[in-house]
Amino acid sequence: MISKKLDSENIGKSNRRLVLQLLRKSTVTTRRDLAISSGLNPSTVTKIIREFLAKGLCEETDTEETAKIGRKAIELRLDKRAYTSVLVDIGVEVTHVGRGLFDGTASALTSFNTPSSFEEFSKALLEKTDEIVRRIPKHKFLGYSISVPGMVDVEESKIVYVPHLDWKDVSVKDRLSKRYPVFLDNEANLSLIAEKWNNPVLASRRDIAFVYVSEGIGCGIMLDGQIYRGRNYSAGEMGHMTVQIDGPKCYCGNNGCWETFASTEAIIRKALALGFELKGANSNEKYLSIFEGKDLHCRDVMLKEIEKSLAIGIVNIVNSLDPEVVILGGMASRLPDSSIKNLRDLVNSRVLYATGQNIEIRRSVLDLKGKTSSNIMGASLHIIDRRMNDFV
Ligand SMILES: [Zn+2]
Repeated sequence: MISKKLDSENIGKSNRRLVLQLLRKSTVTTRRDLAISSGLNPSTVTKIIREFLAKGLCEETDTEETAKIGRKAIELRLDKRAYTSVLVDIGVEVTHVGRGLFDGTASALTSFNTPSSFEEFSKALLEKTDEIVRRIPKHKFLGYSISVPGMVDVEESKIVYVPHLDWKDVSVKDRLSKRYPVFLDNEANLSLIAEKWNNPVLASRRDIAFVYVSEGIGCGIMLDGQIYRGRNYSAGEMGHMTVQIDGPKCYCGNNGCWETFASTEAIIRKALALGFELKGANSNEKYLSIFEGKDLHCRDVMLKEIEKSLAIGIVNIVNSLDPEVVILGGMASRLPDSSIKNLRDLVNSRVLYATGQNIEIRRSVLDLKGKTSSNIMGASLHIIDRRMNDFV
């Protein structure tokens, strides 16, 4: 009897989860379309939508004329104001704070310089977010969703290691807020989650590498449709693969890591060594000024350097993981078309014959939008996914 009851509860939950995912995926829909897409009985869908309407998860909008029988079908859409989260994008230099809504969108709110000690960081973050959190009704607040430029234990909401800031084994959940849920993930993983959700080109792709270029280089890996994190959450740290045996010292303690050649910091170091002057308040702005600024000589010389240094790491990624597509995120998503083409040619001329030598390299569609970064959009989606059981 008990197992039968559990079974029907589980089926109910998985049906509700399915309908909620379909609602999240469509701008507007109808009960009829939901029944068709889910394969569920129309009466089951009607019952689930009644529950969702009562909980405020979705709302009825206008009506649409159905072509065949001339009856009106009520349109439905997710109520994006149903739940709100506070999003935090920890950058090595600057931390951005944003607001996430239930439709997975994100908006920027404020930012502050990232202190190097975690103590001071959490103090600054709480100061910045206290007022924001207070204005959100408690029953509508999902919690904090944080993007980390390093390795993260996702289950325990713990920072394992951030090489640039030398943060090790920090239980963010305990240190930041005992009152509200706190979720963390690596910035490249979050970017990949957002890219997969928003980029129609990736809808049917299951093996994807997302290269996030900032002060360091992170990599999100999706294998067979799942983010691959590794046994100790350090999978995807491609920025720290050795590309030169006796190369420059890296923050991680090793020498010659890929990011000591291809990160924004590394490229700026190179540009300054060549005597170029770069404008900008931080590494990322200076990096952009290389190809968005007026010095054409600097642009030509340094774009070649950027393409070459990115290509060498991407060749290693493609040779080891054999993905269908490589997405460039972070500052690299701002590279000009010509560089993307050169990069694609360079990579395909050097990868193994067995890869087909026709690897796709694309820019993130999210960072191009320029409003909020891909990782902060991913943080907005991530907290909804993690709390899904509470909604259904
Ligand atoms: Zn390293």
